[in-house]
Amino acid sequence: MMSRRQPRILIMTGPDHPSRRDFLRTTAQAGALLSLAEALPAAAAFGASGHDASGAPPPWADRAMRWAQLTLVEDDPGRFDPGFWLEYFQRVQADAACLSAGGCVAYYPTQVPFHHRSAWLGDRDPFGDLVRGCRERGLVVAARTDPHALWPDAAAAHPEWVAVGADGHPRRHWSSPDLWVACGLGPYNFEQMTAIHREIMTRYRPDAIFINRWSGSGLCYCSACRENFRAFAHADLPRTTDPRDPAYRPYLAWRQRRLFDLWERWDAAVRAINPEARVVPNTGGGALSDLDMRETGERAALLAADRQARRGLMPPWANGKSAKEYRATLGRKPVIGIFSVGFEELERWKDSVQREPEMRLWVLEGIANGMRPWFTKFSGTLYDDRWLKPVERLYQWHQQHERYLRNEVPLARVGVVYSQQTAWCYGGEKARDTVEDAALGVYQALIEARIPFEMVHDRLLEAAHLRPFRLLILPNIAALSDAQCAQLRAFVAAGGGLLATSETSLYDAEGARRRDFGLADLFGVSFAGRVEGPMRNSYLRLHHAPAGGEPHPLLRGLEHAPRIINGVWRVDVNTTAPFPNPPVTLIPAYPDLPMEEVYPRGERLDKPQVFLRETGGGRVAYVPWDLDRTYWEVLAEDHGVLLRNAIAWALNEPPLLAVSGPGVLDVTCWRQAASLTVHLVNLTNPMLMKGPVREFFPVGAQEVRLRLPADLTPQGVRLLVAESEPEFGFADGVLTVLVPSILDHEVVAVDF
Ligand SMILES: [Zn+2]
Repeated sequence: MMSRRQPRILIMTGPDHPSRRDFLRTTAQAGALLSLAEALPAAAAFGASGHDASGAPPPWADRAMRWAQLTLVEDDPGRFDPGFWLEYFQRVQADAACLSAGGCVAYYPTQVPFHHRSAWLGDRDPFGDLVRGCRERGLVVAARTDPHALWPDAAAAHPEWVAVGADGHPRRHWSSPDLWVACGLGPYNFEQMTAIHREIMTRYRPDAIFINRWSGSGLCYCSACRENFRAFAHADLPRTTDPRDPAYRPYLAWRQRRLFDLWERWDAAVRAINPEARVVPNTGGGALSDLDMRETGERAALLAADRQARRGLMPPWANGKSAKEYRATLGRKPVIGIFSVGFEELERWKDSVQREPEMRLWVLEGIANGMRPWFTKFSGTLYDDRWLKPVERLYQWHQQHERYLRNEVPLARVGVVYSQQTAWCYGGEKARDTVEDAALGVYQALIEARIPFEMVHDRLLEAAHLRPFRLLILPNIAALSDAQCAQLRAFVAAGGGLLATSETSLYDAEGARRRDFGLADLFGVSFAGRVEGPMRNSYLRLHHAPAGGEPHPLLRGLEHAPRIINGVWRVDVNTTAPFPNPPVTLIPAYPDLPMEEVYPRGERLDKPQVFLRETGGGRVAYVPWDLDRTYWEVLAEDHGVLLRNAIAWALNEPPLLAVSGPGVLDVTCWRQAASLTVHLVNLTNPMLMKGPVREFFPVGAQEVRLRLPADLTPQGVRLLVAESEPEFGFADGVLTVLVPSILDHEVVAVDF
């Protein structure tokens, strides 16, 4: 679990302590680091995918750095104090606001028939008052709508707007039984909501319309959906929700088409009135999300990632992961991180308030990973104001250091591929276990290894898009098309490295199992026809170099281990290329009960369990078992070491950035217009793996080493949280900074 790196210097007695000067001199020369001159031109390609259906984002989209969202409730008009909120937005230095306008409830005097005015509205216009106040204070304004629920009068007059269940009956709202669930793919969204969006844009000219819960609430069997689907697929709507079911597959395609058409229709309607305006549907995510992220990233001017807080077992880095997943297809367009001031569990305590450390660490993870913060508060009436100061502290710091937070490109040489098609077509209803857990294991290992990395969408594997990366990790990316395999092959031929696990490329893009891996030639193995598991009590034999010899690169840190635990699922393979002296071989599962029977039944020295190959220009590491998934389940340190070693071997270049010291840190590295930053988020906490952080525990000195191009001299180094100017060493192109201690977060900012 914990990084075992020891700090070279633990205690500093003062800025002129001689050992510190020696330290700076020596460490600047020690160890090889990748030059930024090599990394920066590649990073400049970041986000230059050339796809942007929406054209360049309007200027307001990039201007907004800190968002404030006030979601009104129906009885707010006349009861809540708009002045309080406007003053608060200003005090926290928010430069954008998302304000409730309409959809379910209209907070302005709408003229659209059946657009339900708040029963407390009277002759007021709270939305208009807030828009005016925000404009006077120079804020970007987004109007929020929510089209998922309908009032009885609308449902009675327009039964075609109501979602219909599999039983053929209209669906009542699951939480507010007086209301009805709206169909997301029929005339309610296409016609009524278009009229509402037009009215809002005409009357108030907001910069954006943010649409919550816009994509329907599960399968709808209304007549419009049935007819539209029949015209598309010549079939009845499916009765299953398993994406692996052939009956469901056309539905997936049709639903996406409908939703992208809807997005386009709304966007065209508002841009016809205000060309600078955009609609921002609340959408997107990682492998488990349901709209193709490549097309989503092309269409969007910006997106807000709606992962508001931890839920269940979720470490704080989940927010940073979300940032990386969105950035994978949005490139340089703004990724905004919506965070809740309250809890975000299944029970939906929407008026709750989290304590400061938990909320703070969540938001800092987002900021360190390139997100612009967006707080969301439900109800204009405050029941608990404990969150006000914590958000103020976060936002004021953010505003103060904004120029160091306006990132241009991330500096990362490692990309972790995520694949919605693998989640849909291979994982299906088990995608969380078979697909996402593998990615989470890799993510945790990279955090512990302190390696800056990005997420990469599997439909953006063109050479231009992969230029920033030296290594791609494929955590059980099972479903890959021939074309995607060819792109990966080209990446390796051009010198890139691959680390792939389990059934990567054993299925095509539609989820049909191939006879052999699509990447069999790169792996140097072929599929032997079976996957064994779940295995219990299986092990791996480690074959070390003879005493005194150089340790095998895969086994560094495992020198004293004759064997380690195996994973749970193993793909049986035959070698097709030579793998002399394999470092890791199979000890097959043997009984785990009764204890008298627990003894090994022979070893399979002929079954290597890691395949390392230099092929073409690059290095390929293939692990034919669920190392990553098992790491997430068990978190055995031996597996973490094995993963880290495999990453280092396949990367095959010195790190750009090295940070050593005690604790668990998320390390990210960015370039801005005239500076570089290194973010260090202190995740060292007994609550790390679930996230209910009570307090922060400061970690001691961290040595940060960054190699700069030969012609570049740093003009100054600042610590943006400690608000100090640390001494720094600079020799032979290596910048060395000693960060004495980190409580929650530190940013090393290097000016040029
Ligand atoms: Zn419908």
